[in-house]
Amino acid sequence: MRQNRHSFLLDRMLGKLCVKLRMLGVDAKLNPEGEAGRFLVNAMKEGRTAVTRARGRRDRPGPKPVILSSSDTAGQIVELFAALGEAPRFEPFTRCLECNVLLVGAPEETVKGSIPPNVEKSFHRFSSCPACGRVYWEGSHFQAMKEEVKKIEAKLGRNEWNENAGEPRSV
Ligand SMILES: [Zn+2]
Repeated sequence: MRQNRHSFLLDRMLGKLCVKLRMLGVDAKLNPEGEAGRFLVNAMKEGRTAVTRARGRRDRPGPKPVILSSSDTAGQIVELFAALGEAPRFEPFTRCLECNVLLVGAPEETVKGSIPPNVEKSFHRFSSCPACGRVYWEGSHFQAMKEEVKKIEAKLGRNEWNENAGEPRSV
């Protein structure tokens, strides 16, 4: 499956959106703490699209950030991709929610000891983050996230630009 074309740098007030985007497999990073003044420069340097809710940022020199007005994350995701004028490519549950790194498959025997015993009994497919070592499995949290992904996709599906995007969505 193809990767998303865009990667994003979010300003620090968008922490929730950052986690949601990672959940959808989108490359999303928060601007480092204490670097608010370097937000747009950081985005430019890393080739990321800057995303903020602060309107004042529009007037600064350099590439323009995407400015969101919605206060809920699902609405922000819809706004973000509408602003880019493109259909998103989601690959849910492929990134670490903590560090944005792509997950790798983890054989059952390698995760023993780092997961609760009841999980060990009930689940047999795992993935882990090569950066922080966090182990992921398709437990109740996963099911809840799945529902959320469906809701976000349904919301995005109602947008007109989606039908005119010219490319099929690979979700
Ligand atoms: Zn991680």
